[in-house]
Amino acid sequence: MIPDNFSTPTPEPADRVGRPMFSELQIQRRTSQLAREIADDFDGREMVVIAVLKGAFVFAADLIRRLNKLGAKPMIDFIHAASYGSGTVSSGKVAISHDVTIPLVGRDVLLIDDIIDSGRTLAKIRDHLLEKGAASVKCCALLDKPSRREVNFTPEFVGFRIPDRFVVGYGLDYDERYRYLPYITDLKAEGDP
Ligand code: 5GP
Ligand code: MG
Repeated sequence: MIPDNFSTPTPEPADRVGRPMFSELQIQRRTSQLAREIADDFDGREMVVIAVLKGAFVFAADLIRRLNKLGAKPMIDFIHAASYGSGTVSSGKVAISHDVTIPLVGRDVLLIDDIIDSGRTLAKIRDHLLEKGAASVKCCALLDKPSRREVNFTPEFVGFRIPDRFVVGYGLDYDERYRYLPYITDLKAEGDP
């Protein structure tokens, strides 16, 4: 029973969700492979996992549990970087709007994000974490759009490379919607069949 004073959000345009670009199963399989690559790379060294809010929370949750199956027992923290502007085009400026609280001096960091576009967000956060004294920062992104790169940034671990399309699902949003989808899909333009 919904109380009277509970305001229901406006319904989202579900008809704009296209077919999965990467299915739930494809994502799960690739995430397991990535966990293996990362565990091999860290080779038993302790890591601090830092997930970039908000988009990376779903991917990070799955990845850390697979890493743990392979023996890792990472500390987990979060960071939020806002790039000015909303919608499907990000602007050039990136600001850290919520910082990590775990001391990083001398620690090896695995930085997790949902997607790399221009590369500005992860480049900025990586430099920020190194300034805080991290011994090393390795980056893992589920998705990468290399054709969009505007700064020189190469992640150590990438799930899938994709063309220049705006995607949602599995943590990725369009105006805060669609993060719950278990798969990744692109949005149909308004009026598309
Ligand atoms: P960058 O700083 O690399 O240009 O942008 C990275 C951020 O832009 C991502 O963390 C994500 O929040 C957003 N972004 C870039 N491309 C997409 C996309 O295709 N879909 C969604 N939902 N967000 C994107
Ligand atoms: Mg993001």
